[in-house]
Amino acid sequence: MSALKIVNARLGDAGQLGATLWVENGRFVERLSSSELTFETLDVAGGLLLPGLVETHIHLDKACIMERCRLQEGTLAEAVAQTRQAKTGFTEADVYARGARVLEKAIVQGTTHMRTHVEIDPGIGLTGFSAVRRLQADYAWAVGLELCVFPQEGMLNNPGTEALLCQALEQGAEVLGGCPYTDSDPAGQIRRLFELAVEYDRDLDFHLDFDLDPAGMTVQEVIRCTERHGWDGRVTIGHVTKLSALPQDELLAVGRALAQAGVRVTCLPSTDLFLTGREHFHNKPRGLAPLAHLHRCGVTCSLSTNNLGNPFTPYGDASLIRQANLFANVSQLGTGEDLLRCLGWVSSESARLLRLADYGLAPGCRADFIVFDAASPAAVVAELSPPTMGFKGGRKTFERPLPRLLPPR
Ligand SMILES: [Zn+2]
Repeated sequence: MSALKIVNARLGDAGQLGATLWVENGRFVERLSSSELTFETLDVAGGLLLPGLVETHIHLDKACIMERCRLQEGTLAEAVAQTRQAKTGFTEADVYARGARVLEKAIVQGTTHMRTHVEIDPGIGLTGFSAVRRLQADYAWAVGLELCVFPQEGMLNNPGTEALLCQALEQGAEVLGGCPYTDSDPAGQIRRLFELAVEYDRDLDFHLDFDLDPAGMTVQEVIRCTERHGWDGRVTIGHVTKLSALPQDELLAVGRALAQAGVRVTCLPSTDLFLTGREHFHNKPRGLAPLAHLHRCGVTCSLSTNNLGNPFTPYGDASLIRQANLFANVSQLGTGEDLLRCLGWVSSESARLLRLADYGLAPGCRADFIVFDAASPAAVVAELSPPTMGFKGGRKTFERPLPRLLPPR
């Protein structure tokens, strides 16, 4: 690939006008390695340049199945049961086709890296895993995809599940996930998954808890295991909606313990808002993990999409900017600094959570970037700006023409 010169870019809040960036061999460089190298010039005409968005938690395998399900209660239990039923009809071609639809939506929303959870159990076997593996290869031109295999329907209560998880890990699944809240022995599942993570040298990502009762938290078990196994920086807990039910002093104590242990937290605003608090008719709780407070304790956090078009979340256009805006709105985060932090939770902080070493716009980083027609990074979140174009490894992956008004002459 020849090199790329990007001119008239706006970088960051300071609105540095007219910045020039160089890309060679798919990475940003200070200058080209040789003056004889040919390059293309990309004039972004004052557009705001940001590194590509990072999705830390999505389910490609069970997306876009609403027409196969019947929602009556809108509860978590119903979502798990309806999806279990729909899953009996999943084939590799079907998972591939639905996953591809979501990936293509995500690409045009500016996502350049994604961790997808993949369900493994004796019912579905490795069918979903094989389909998503093919998506990983076929869409590598636009998205870096990592697979997190996990037991959605429990592990210790579901014989055969652990052996299948090990098979997926042996076939190269990048991350090991957990779902203690559906297991007959939640703490037992956590402990067993830590043993497997150490054995296979994998990071862990748990769907930890999913209700608003502060009793029965398993977060302390995760912290204990992380410290015991020295898995600092390699463990993420998602949902953790119980954190939203804690009074401030208790929350801050948990936040400090999470930061100390190096356990990261992901909030899935769309799903958590849809499923929790159903038992309340009035004064409904919001039920979102309070990332701003956790961040102040030193916890690395991310916001993610989780599901699209299924009983867990019947919505979704795969826009991480939308999740950032939704979280900001529901969490009453409105200052420029707040909005910038929300943007970080779908970009730089997400990259830190996934331990992406070469993320950003600095020389040496992979040239995965997107361009916005927006006044500032905070305005991207405030105004739900869609990216106008995106690049992966310095190669253009999509473009979105700006809308044009047609007033009468
Ligand atoms: Zn999930």
